Amino acid sequence: MTAVDVARIRDDFPILDQLINGKPLVYLDNAATTQKPRPVIDAISNYYLHNNSNVHRGVHTLSQRATDDYEAGREAIRRFINAPDASEIIYVRGTTEGLNLVASSYGRKFFKAGDEVIITGMEHHSNIVPWQILGKEIGIRLRVIPFNDQGELLMDEYEGMLNDRTRLVSVVHQSNALGTINPVSAIVELAHARGVPVMLDTAQSVPHMPIDVQDLGVDFATFSGHKMYGPTGIGVLWGRADLLNEMPPYQTGGEMIRSVTFEETIYNVLPHKFEAGTPDIAGAIGLGAAVEYLEAIGMGRIAAYEQALMRYGAERLAEIEGVRLIGTAANRGGVLSFYMEAAHAHDIGTILDAEGIAVRTGHHCAQPVMARYEIPATVRASLSFYNTTEEIDALIKGIDRVIEVFG
Ligand code: PMP
Repeated sequence: MTAVDVARIRDDFPILDQLINGKPLVYLDNAATTQKPRPVIDAISNYYLHNNSNVHRGVHTLSQRATDDYEAGREAIRRFINAPDASEIIYVRGTTEGLNLVASSYGRKFFKAGDEVIITGMEHHSNIVPWQILGKEIGIRLRVIPFNDQGELLMDEYEGMLNDRTRLVSVVHQSNALGTINPVSAIVELAHARGVPVMLDTAQSVPHMPIDVQDLGVDFATFSGHKMYGPTGIGVLWGRADLLNEMPPYQTGGEMIRSVTFEETIYNVLPHKFEAGTPDIAGAIGLGAAVEYLEAIGMGRIAAYEQALMRYGAERLAEIEGVRLIGTAANRGGVLSFYMEAAHAHDIGTILDAEGIAVRTGHHCAQPVMARYEIPATVRASLSFYNTTEEIDALIKGIDRVIEVFG
């Protein structure tokens, strides 16, 4: 587990070095949002201190600098996910907006009554609700791939669902509630055999493993900057250029047009067609810095380190009577989601907070997952490369404290 130099890395995250309720902060809420390293904070400050200006429209020096840095962020992201072309990288607010963009634009243009969209039973609400809305508006039908008790998709059921009415498969890569890493290549192969495109929610995978959109073979992918050590308010939708070119704009106004008269508007080319209005310039620059930070550590090393930490945590949790790990798929990422009959998740979270430990409690915006296990909520410890085995031990001690209190 030493391939990642955690002690040195933690120096880049000043926020981690503090006491919470008199105890050293143990931040295990990385699936909700990650902390930001100094280079990301510096890139944002540098923009506001030295280069603040609007992008694309100015001939003056500050605007040129801002535009160069904003576009350098796009190129860094292209490289990071191995997209064929930077014009396919659309800046959005985050995964939620990426999914809504595809539902609104692609869905409204290409779906008709009776068509079907396939999702999984472990989607975040942001990959359920946009399709439901289209269901009400257009009359499409949502099909849901079930999963077994371990949290693994039933691929035979999926295969049986694909038919001539299927227009899109939109699935999560790594579940935020269970940690399951879904078999994307197999999902894509079956969908493409029927000419059906695949959209991938990579909110929880892009920050934790190497992602190559061409290798995965997907047609759309979306992720959030704030879950990958970048700022909030910025994220990415990547799509194949031929699909994006066919799609109507999602929002309209400045920047997304080539020319406007009162009679007619001609849209701008990619990526601008989908970036109406002044974008989150500082956010894009910060996200570019986050990508470079991750590349310097190495995504392969990050994945290996977090896997080892997760396995250690799962083993330690399994030793505690009364703790039930939810999500035990053979292929899973750094998520330890658990349930205790003895205490409500929120009470566990409060006791852990008193020990300085930050975890998430609740349904994790995946209520159907909770329904599947017939539980109201879980406690979720989600890991980053800056976490340590000592922090997992602190979590285990915190749970011992819960057992002391609740018996
Ligand atoms: N999908 C998954 C798998 C997620 O974990 C999240 C965030 N919890 C989202 C989508 C939504 O991301 P955001 O809130 O950043 O738009």
